[in-house]
Amino acid sequence: MAGRRVIVVGAGIAGLSAAHRLATDHPDVDLTVLEAANAAGGRIRTSPFAGLPVDEAADAFLVRVPWALDLCRELDLADELVTPSARAASVWLDGTLRPLPTPNVLGVPLDPAGVASGTLPASDLERLAGDGRPDTPIPDGDPTVGQVVRACVGDAVFERLVDALLGGVNAGRADDLSCTVMAPQLLAAARHPDGLLAALRAAQQQADPSAPVFNTHPAGMGHLVDTLATRLGDRLRLRTPVTGIGRTGAGWLVGTDNGVEVADAVVLAVPAHVAGDLLTPVDAEAADLLAAIPHASVVLATFAYRRDNFAAPGDQSGFLVPRHAGLLMTACSFAGSKWAHLDDGDRCLLRVSAGRIDDDRHLSIDRDGLQRALARDLATTVGIEQPPAAVRLSPWPRSLPQFASGHLDRMATVDERLAEAAPGLAVAGAFRHGVGIPACIRSGAEAAAAVA
Ligand SMILES: Cc1cc2nc3c(=O)[nH]c(=O)nc-3n(C[C@H](O)[C@H](O)[C@H](O)COP(=O)(O)OP(=O)(O)OC[C@H]3O[C@@H](n4cnc5c(N)ncnc54)[C@H](O)[C@@H]3O)c2cc1C
Repeated sequence: MAGRRVIVVGAGIAGLSAAHRLATDHPDVDLTVLEAANAAGGRIRTSPFAGLPVDEAADAFLVRVPWALDLCRELDLADELVTPSARAASVWLDGTLRPLPTPNVLGVPLDPAGVASGTLPASDLERLAGDGRPDTPIPDGDPTVGQVVRACVGDAVFERLVDALLGGVNAGRADDLSCTVMAPQLLAAARHPDGLLAALRAAQQQADPSAPVFNTHPAGMGHLVDTLATRLGDRLRLRTPVTGIGRTGAGWLVGTDNGVEVADAVVLAVPAHVAGDLLTPVDAEAADLLAAIPHASVVLATFAYRRDNFAAPGDQSGFLVPRHAGLLMTACSFAGSKWAHLDDGDRCLLRVSAGRIDDDRHLSIDRDGLQRALARDLATTVGIEQPPAAVRLSPWPRSLPQFASGHLDRMATVDERLAEAAPGLAVAGAFRHGVGIPACIRSGAEAAAAVA
């Protein structure tokens, strides 16, 4: 595609991944990336807090899927990556922190002996000794995580463990989430003739329990963004929101406040609701499907405590809070225990999240009130009575797409509609395959390949 002009709209990790692929695999392409904000990265942002590079949102990526690790290898960052120093986590149940069962797969305990006392009622524990065959048929097609887990291992495992853990990933309600997108391994195991637990146990025996699950960069996830942005150089234009797109002959017009750009191909790597707005004049059906994807708003509060006021347990990475616990917080990560580079010996850093798709309480509380409410939750859960030395609030409105049952079919329809009505245009982002950084990198690479 020598000499063709390609515009990538949005410099979050999906747009940067698309741009990187185009620049690397198709060096003749005349590439421009248009980003609305004054920095690249979108929902990945690292900034100094208490003198340390602390992420304001994503702080790690999954390494059991290839896309993020492969990109880091390509960028010569892989040798610098680090793994969590603490992996154990707990869950706030009935007014106390209880260890997450070991082993578990997405919160489903594989061995009743590894479930701490008080975590589950006796009848549910007994059921965990079995093979996990469903007691009601699992619907064909794309059932919800709730339908699968409730049928195979019961309501208590779902409500006290799986919903807390999986719902934490995208601030969702696992009763409404597509199992195909959010937990494909649970769906495959549930459909296995031997039963969900038997299939998961068999898979577990093949896995290396010491293999790292997450990686990060000690300079924060923002370092990945900075590396990609530096490589793009002046092909990346910040403070340039795209206000409209339209067809022109075989190509595209891309409107910005500074004028109209012409391109042969466009990658829209913006949130689904922005892509929906931009695509309305191009294809109403694709636009409506994208605009209809619900997004959860969350806030991430980072607290620094003097160590003589509070020291998090060194072997614990943090804890989850199920939706019925009556707290505002949804999770707390002991950042200094989890990451050695965030432990300066002086202060204890805690990253506390609030907000779910069905819990917007945090949006109607002012900053001081929010800090106080989350500090109260910390007093309740881990007993911190002293005021923090520093607090930072990072609000992320409409940031986490939700994958309702049938999501992948709807995305296939979007692709079909765009192939017909918008040749040379592809969409990428967290709304496609999942919110995780690897899934976003994958979607960017796929969009680049599609327009190339
Ligand atoms: C609090 C929080 C914690 C998270 N933790 C993790 C984690 O630990 N691990 C993990 O893997 N994932 C995590 N995630 C998810 C992950 O960070 C996101 O899913 C991912 O960064 C989204 O990337 P994206 O490129 O799809 O979208 P975005 O990052 O939203 O990028 C879209 C970009 O488009 C730009 N844009 C919007 N409109 C326009 C326009 N009109 N013109 C031009 N540009 C525009 C935006 O400014 C933005 O830069 C977390 C997310 C949040 C909110």
